[in-house]
Amino acid sequence: MAAAGNSGGSENTAASRKAPLDIDDLAARILNGERRALARAITLVESGRADHREATTLLLDLLARENRQALRIGLSGTPGVGKSTFIESFGMKLIAEGLRVAVLAVDPSSTRSGGSILGDKTRMEYLSRQKNAFIRPSPSQTHLGGVGRRSREAVALCEAAGFDVVLIETVGVGQSETVVSEISDLFLLLLAPAGGDELQGVKRGIMEMADIILVNKADGDLKAAATRTCADYAGALRLLRKRPQDPEGYPKALMVSAMAKDGLGRAWDEMQALADWRQTNGHWQGRRSEQARYWFDEEVRQALLARLQTPWAQSRMADLSEDVAAGQMTPAAAAKDMLAGLGVG
Ligand code: GDP
Repeated sequence: MAAAGNSGGSENTAASRKAPLDIDDLAARILNGERRALARAITLVESGRADHREATTLLLDLLARENRQALRIGLSGTPGVGKSTFIESFGMKLIAEGLRVAVLAVDPSSTRSGGSILGDKTRMEYLSRQKNAFIRPSPSQTHLGGVGRRSREAVALCEAAGFDVVLIETVGVGQSETVVSEISDLFLLLLAPAGGDELQGVKRGIMEMADIILVNKADGDLKAAATRTCADYAGALRLLRKRPQDPEGYPKALMVSAMAKDGLGRAWDEMQALADWRQTNGHWQGRRSEQARYWFDEEVRQALLARLQTPWAQSRMADLSEDVAAGQMTPAAAAKDMLAGLGVG
């Protein structure tokens, strides 16, 4: 039996006075679809404690053997564009079709501005009450490397818990889109109707990541503007180079109204059509393999960076930095010295 939670000489902390964590039992409960077990495991993933990290690694390894896969959909858009309204309507639609839906947030900003994502409990009011839905707000996070790993692991936990669709929401700030696209099978960009000049407002890199652009708020007075915006983006997408992982006609721009629940069926059809095509043509597995490589790389990189954060490393860095500044050592010699001290030189 794999157990963790009492190691590390922290016998006096409140956490370690609790019963030791039984990883086999936790894994069994997650595989059984128990939401409380899933929530607990995600908390474990988010923890910075070394013993929790060890437990997480064991847990993920156990769960990976089941090889359960969900459709992972990344969703990005600036605050106010209608992400939570969309997730609520779209999630309810999927649930009505008999699917189980998990929603996770990736929010890289520790000091959030312009509305935190999933922070507000009133968001997704109906969806959050569904027994076939699981909604997890974004934890407070400080650096993007950690965000990516935790988010990817949380997605893996949701897959193991038997969710059919995992929606991963992020705000439109650039870096977090890259993280989300490295976790998802499909990437959606939600936009609001706007004057033509706002087309440039969307960073080209983000647009290139999108598989489907959804112009939201295509209702009432905004419908005409939404139609124009959608046509503008469809035009812009046609100018992008065709990607090998796409069939003819993708990426696509579509109109939806999350509020009026309009166009959601069409959007879902397009997502499924694209996912099916990629599966049939080997791009689905190819993308997941590439992502696994990427995260392996990241894991090594982050672990090495973490070594630089210890008090010893920080003080050694500061000392060597002084020597370099004073001309007593060359940067290369100091770096060699530092790496040797870390045991990686
Ligand atoms: P988020 O910050 O991206 O999560 O955006 P919200 O979902 O909180 O929506 C921001 C505002 O846009 C709210 O006032 C919503 O009621 C409104 N909104 C969202 N979707 C629609 C839509 O389809 N049509 C219209 N007219 N308003 C919408």
